[in-house]
Amino acid sequence: MTIWTLGSINIDHVYRLPHLPQPGETLAALDYSTGLGGKGANQSVAAARAGARVRLIGAIGPDGGQVLARLVALGVDCAAVARMQTATGHAIILLDAASENAIVIHPGANRAIAPQAAVAALDAAVPGDTLLLQNETSAQAETAEAAAIRGLRVVYSAAPFELAAVRAVLPHVTTLALNAVEAGQLTAALGCELSDLPVAEVLVTHGAEGADWHDLGAGRVIYQPAFAVSPVDTTGAGDTFAGYFAAARDQGFGPAAALRLAAGAAALKVTRAGAAEAIPARAEVEAFLE
Ligand code: ADP
Repeated sequence: MTIWTLGSINIDHVYRLPHLPQPGETLAALDYSTGLGGKGANQSVAAARAGARVRLIGAIGPDGGQVLARLVALGVDCAAVARMQTATGHAIILLDAASENAIVIHPGANRAIAPQAAVAALDAAVPGDTLLLQNETSAQAETAEAAAIRGLRVVYSAAPFELAAVRAVLPHVTTLALNAVEAGQLTAALGCELSDLPVAEVLVTHGAEGADWHDLGAGRVIYQPAFAVSPVDTTGAGDTFAGYFAAARDQGFGPAAALRLAAGAAALKVTRAGAAEAIPARAEVEAFLE
C-alpha cells in the first residue's frame, strides 16, 4: 500500500556556538552545516527507510531544490510537492558546547499548502492506504477528512501541539501519535483522558522511558521499552518512531512487532547527529534488534 504524508519540509541551518547568544550579542559560529528537517520530511524518510512506498504532499520555495533532492535520494516520492514563490520552511538551530539548543522556525511554504491541492493529490489513494500528518503545515483538516472518506488509515502526529488544529483533525483520525508532553497538553486542553478520545488508537512516546500503544475500543495497552543507547542527538526521535510504526502497520505488522521495530529505529536515530538524514535504514534496525 502507499503512505501519503501531508508534511513540512525544512532546511535546517545548524550553528555550533561557544554559548547561546545573549540579547544584543553577536557571536561567530564555530561550525555551520545544513540538513533536511521538518516533521513531515522526517516522518516521510522514516517510513521510506522502513521500506514503505511514500508520497509526500508538501511545498517548497525557489530555495528548496537541494532539500527536495535529498528527500528523493532517501526514497520519498516528491511528485506532489508544490513549487511556490515563497521561501522554503527553515529552522535556525543554535547549539552550545553542551548541545543545549535554541531554535527559530520559519514555516514559509509549509503553511501555504492549498487544501484543494492537498486533497487533489489524494485522488490516486485507495482504501487501506495511510495518511500521515502533523501540525507544521496548512490544510490538515481538509486532507484528513478527504483521506478518511476514501478509506485511508489516518495517523496524526499532533505536534507541535495546537488546539484548533487538533479539534479539526481529530474526528478523522485512526491513530493519534504524541509524546508525553503533547499528551499532557492535549488532555489538559480538552479536559478529558486519552481513553476518552474519539480515535481507535493512541500511541504515546516517553523518550528514554519507551512508548505505549492503546487500543481504545478493546481497552488493550502494549508497552514497549526504549533500547538503552548513548544519545548524541534526540532530534527526530519521535518522527522516526511515528514513521517506522506507520510503515510497519502498512506492511501488515501487528502493533507489538511495529512498536519494537519503531523503538529500534528511534534508538539508532538518537545515536546519530542530524534529522532526516540520520534516520537508519530497515536493515540497520533489524541488525540492531537481532
Ligand atoms: P519526541 O522526539 O517526539 O519528543 P520522544 O522523546 O518521546 O519523542 O522519543 C520517541 C521514541 O524515541 C521513544 O519512545 C524511544 O523509543 C526513542 N527514544 C527517545 N529518546 C531515547 C533515548 N535517549 N534512548 C533510547 N531511545 C530513545
